[in-house]
Amino acid sequence: MRNLENIKAFTREERAAVLKGMGLPAFREKQIFAWICRGAKGWDECTDLSKDLRAKLSQRFSWENAEAELVQTSSDGTRKFLIALPGGDRVEAVFMAYEYGNSLCISTQVGCAMGCSFCASTIGGRIRSLSAWEMLEEYVLAVRETGSPINHIVLMGMGEPFDNYGEVAAFLRLIHDPQGIGLSYRNLTLSTCGLVPGIRRFGDEFPQVNLAISLHASNQADREKLMPVAKAYPLDELMAACREHAEKTGRRVTFEFALIAGRNDTPQTARELASLLRGMLCHVNLIPLNPVTETGLQGTDRKAAAKFRDMLESMGIPATVRRQLGADIDAACGQLRKKYT
Ligand code: SAH
Repeated sequence: MRNLENIKAFTREERAAVLKGMGLPAFREKQIFAWICRGAKGWDECTDLSKDLRAKLSQRFSWENAEAELVQTSSDGTRKFLIALPGGDRVEAVFMAYEYGNSLCISTQVGCAMGCSFCASTIGGRIRSLSAWEMLEEYVLAVRETGSPINHIVLMGMGEPFDNYGEVAAFLRLIHDPQGIGLSYRNLTLSTCGLVPGIRRFGDEFPQVNLAISLHASNQADREKLMPVAKAYPLDELMAACREHAEKTGRRVTFEFALIAGRNDTPQTARELASLLRGMLCHVNLIPLNPVTETGLQGTDRKAAAKFRDMLESMGIPATVRRQLGADIDAACGQLRKKYT
């Protein structure tokens, strides 16, 4: 049998060009793109294309879908998806319901190369990077499975977005495309472990997309122990890039800080952190570490986390303790895939 080309894997321009090559008018690409975004599961569902045209297209192009291999629903409504991509690789996405709307956390790579010591995603290393259309599939699948609108997307699942800059940038443009889903850039958030060149480029190209930095330590020595990336991009360079980003974009930078019992939840850490961030347009998101069996590290309890927040606030640094959604369903990065693959 002849190998079919995956209709979803083209960029919009490429798809328009191949369809044009088949003698089809430009609006056909718009129709097909709309069906991809709406979560149609095959050519048969593209009902504004004639049967003949659908038959012709399906002889040349496959319509491949990501499938939910496992769905875990938490008592708080959080839903975690183990997603099988066409081709068989698995990634995770997490749907969270907040008062101000629904949020979806998506993965940008299968596995991760960054090697953070507390993170399950990195345990088997980076298998590969996702393409923009595969990231879009995570969104489409979540809408299909939950039947709920998604107002906010965070690139905070498996993988390091700036280790896959080109496809991540293509995805941001795709999900923002008004002919498809049309999410506002302000409703998108990208999280990085601190790849400084990525931060600079991102600030120039996507000044409206929110930036989150996984910081997790208040000095270079501690950060190096937790996050190997700190050796390549030291804390002072990272902080300089963050300050530059906040000034350039006028938007507040979020700092993710996973509190590890006895490691980075002390008054000394709070003081160091406050002096690191002083004067910057920023916000600190405190997350008691989700324990990952393989790492042996334990999270700070809620009470101590609240105390740490109060210390930061008293030193003028805005901070919140993030509601711990989905703790009963392995919602920490990479945990689900680890368990089932
Ligand atoms: N690579 C990117 C995005 C993916 S990680 C980044 O590092 O930002 C998403 C967030 O989950 C990061 O802040 C990461 O440090 C954090 N994380 C990973 N494992 C965790 C755990 N066990 N408990 C709490 N947060 C964790």
